[in-house]
Amino acid sequence: MSNMAEYPVEHRVSELFAAAKAVQKNAYAPYSHFPVGAAILTPSGRIHAGCNVENAAYPVGACAEAGAIAAMVAAGETAISVILTICDSIEVGTCCGGCRQRVREFATADTLIYACGPDGVRAVFTMEQLLPTSFGPENLNGFVS
Ligand SMILES: [Zn+2]
Repeated sequence: MSNMAEYPVEHRVSELFAAAKAVQKNAYAPYSHFPVGAAILTPSGRIHAGCNVENAAYPVGACAEAGAIAAMVAAGETAISVILTICDSIEVGTCCGGCRQRVREFATADTLIYACGPDGVRAVFTMEQLLPTSFGPENLNGFVS
């Protein structure tokens, strides 16, 4: 994509975009017909991807971000440096509210969220922009034994 070079090389946006676009093709979205792909870059440099998986019992379906996070955790990693999502929306397609909280669980102070369309990056957000004054693991300090 032509606009990938605008972003810092360490964000590996081209690779994340390619990974998200590839997995988007495998999305199971027979009900919404809205395939989404997500790719996560971790501090170790690994990339984990996921797609949305819908279900005939609609609320049981899972977002692409949830799939990518599950793949990351299954691979033994628990920190997100960058997460990039791709969808075919005409508008900027950002993470849903639930996924903002899912990403927040594994976010670092520097985590960035790239929102892409088929043409490339449409917007970039910090965690604080997408989920201001959020609740995270540190809020449980002192309350979990
Ligand atoms: Zn979501």
